[in-house]
Amino acid sequence: MIGVCLYFGRKQDTQMKLDVLAFAAHPDDIELSCGGTVCLLVKQGYRVGVVDFTRGELGSRGTPELRALEAAEASRVMGIHARENLGIPDGHIENTPENRRKVIEVLRRYRPHLVLVNAPKDRHPDHPNAAVLSLEAIFYAGLRKIATHEKDGTEQAPWRPSHVLHYFQSVMEDMEPTLVVDVTEVWDQRVSAMQAFRSQFWSKSYNPATDEPETFISSPAFMEWLEARARTFGYRIGAKYAEPFLYHNGPIGVKNLMETLTAEKPY
Ligand SMILES: [Zn+2]
Repeated sequence: MIGVCLYFGRKQDTQMKLDVLAFAAHPDDIELSCGGTVCLLVKQGYRVGVVDFTRGELGSRGTPELRALEAAEASRVMGIHARENLGIPDGHIENTPENRRKVIEVLRRYRPHLVLVNAPKDRHPDHPNAAVLSLEAIFYAGLRKIATHEKDGTEQAPWRPSHVLHYFQSVMEDMEPTLVVDVTEVWDQRVSAMQAFRSQFWSKSYNPATDEPETFISSPAFMEWLEARARTFGYRIGAKYAEPFLYHNGPIGVKNLMETLTAEKPY
């Protein structure tokens, strides 16, 4: 699966531009943290892709091969338009020129307007490390003197997205979200996408091997916490379920104030 573009049965055309590209340290970060937002964007007609930096080979449960199958299933559930895996070693997401080049190449390939990146701090060191790598690659992708090429040798044009959002992971202390997305209408779909990762999250249909421990994220309590968090942020904006984000490099520019503030919320 490394470096392979998956189109999930859609016709591959030369126009690969996406509206939104989501970066993740591990296959399942997106589904866990902002799967509802991704489902919603696709439902609203935007072209969305996911790029996983590693294959998750250090995971305590499952295998990289199973994670790849689970990622494909989750992608199908969310309806996304592309998914790639950069094959960076799990546990070693370093901000090196080689890794930046891999990230720059996908930015220039898909030319997204908005990029979603890992949380700036979290219990798993890979997550903030992936955020640093993402942010630096996003900047350098706009410099024309850094040359990169497609696999067929075609030179890539510089590209820098207009907006970057950090999604939230398990640590939230001192992080007040800049914006919160109402994902109520896609909540069931969002849960299905996450549960496609049967080896990682609690699922009735997964029988862990005898040497596979329960992890921080594999218990029913974790699923309940995730729902409680979505309810908490939803409550704050007058919705049932919502997902929080931090805007990088603010402030956010607004052209139509009333269109931006359409949601009604309790005050
Ligand atoms: Zn992760």
